[in-house]
Amino acid sequence: HPDHPRRPIRELPDELISQIAAGEVVERPASVVRELVDNALDAGATQITVRLLAGGVRLVSVEDDGGGIPREELPIALRRHATSKIGSLADLETVGTMGFRGEALAAIGSVSELSLLSRCAGQPSAFLLDGRSGELRPAARAIGTTVEVKELFFSTPARRKFLKTDATELAHCIEAVRRHALARPDVGFAVWHEGKLVEQWRPGTREQRLADVLGDDFLSQSVAVDQAIGPIRVTGRAGIPDAARSRADQQFAYVNGRFVRDKVLTHAARSAYEDVLHGQRQPVYALYVDIEPSRVDVNVHPTKIEVRFRDSREVHQAVRRAVEAALAAPRAGQAPEPAQ
Ligand code: ADP
Ligand code: MG
Repeated sequence: HPDHPRRPIRELPDELISQIAAGEVVERPASVVRELVDNALDAGATQITVRLLAGGVRLVSVEDDGGGIPREELPIALRRHATSKIGSLADLETVGTMGFRGEALAAIGSVSELSLLSRCAGQPSAFLLDGRSGELRPAARAIGTTVEVKELFFSTPARRKFLKTDATELAHCIEAVRRHALARPDVGFAVWHEGKLVEQWRPGTREQRLADVLGDDFLSQSVAVDQAIGPIRVTGRAGIPDAARSRADQQFAYVNGRFVRDKVLTHAARSAYEDVLHGQRQPVYALYVDIEPSRVDVNVHPTKIEVRFRDSREVHQAVRRAVEAALAAPRAGQAPEPAQ
C-alpha cells in the first residue's frame, strides 16, 4: 500500500542487539546466577560464593577462585559473541564447558550495571572493569574473578515488572545454585542473602553432596544407579517408591554435567516406576547421564536447559533400564524378602 509507513532496513546498534538477546537468556536474577556460576566452573573454580541483595534484583555477585581474566581481555569479555571456549565449529561438536556462546556477559551487562573484577596468575594486581563507563583500573583481589550485577532490568521496566517478590526470586536463585551443586560435589558453594549465609555446601563425594543438598532422607530413601549401556552411562540415585511425592520437585537430570529439563529423560525415569508408582505420584531422583559429546546437541536453546539427542531411543532405554535395575536390586542394609 502506498500509504503504508515504512522505515529503511538498518542494522541495529550493538547495545540493542544485546538487550534483545537478554530477553532469551536473562529472565530473572536466577538466570544471572546460573550464567555466572557456569562461568566460574568453566574457569576451574573450587569455591564459589554467591551474594544477593533483594532476592538478586539489587545485586547478584559471584566470586570464584578460578583462573581469572587477563587485564587486556576484560573489555572483550563483555562483548557479544566473545568467548575463550570455542574457536571453530569442530570445537562446538566436542565442547566440554558449560558456556560457549559468548553471550551471557554481554546480555546481562545490557540490562544491568555490571562490573568485572579479576586477577589471573602472573599479574601483580587485579583489575576492575566498570561495564557502563568502560573504565578499567587496578584493584585488590586474590587470583580469581568477581562479577557484580546490580539493578537488574533497571532500563527495561516492562521486564522488571514481571519479577516476583524478593523471597520468590531468592528461592529461584538458590535453586539455580542447588542444580550446580548437585553436578559438582568437588566444588564448594556458599550463598549469602542480605549479609546472611543461607546455604553452604562443602566439597565432598557425590553422596555427601546429595545428602547436604536434598537431605539425609533422600540418601536413605534412594538406591544407587550405575549402569552403562552402549555409549551411555547412567549414574546417580533413584528414590524408592515410598519416597515419591505429589509434585515433581525433586527430579534432577544431568547430561554430561549440565542440568537439563528433557522430556526423554523425564519420561524414561517415570516409566521405570510404571509398575510400582500409581496415579500422579512423582518419583524423586538425581540422575547423571554421560554420553559421548557428539551424540548430543547442547546448542538448542540459549540457556542450554534443553538438549537434543542424536538417538533419543537409546537414551530412553538406557535411563529406563538403569533405574529399573537399581529399583529391582535388594536394598543395601535391608533384610531380603523371606522365601515363600
Ligand atoms: P561464554 O561463557 O559462553 O564463553 P560469557 O559471556 O559467559 O560467554 O563469558 C565470556 C568470556 O569471559 C568467557 O569465555 C571467559 O573467557 C570469560 N569469563 C567470564 N566469566 C569468567 C570467570 N568467572 N572466570 C574467568 N573467565 C571468565
Ligand atoms: Mg558463560
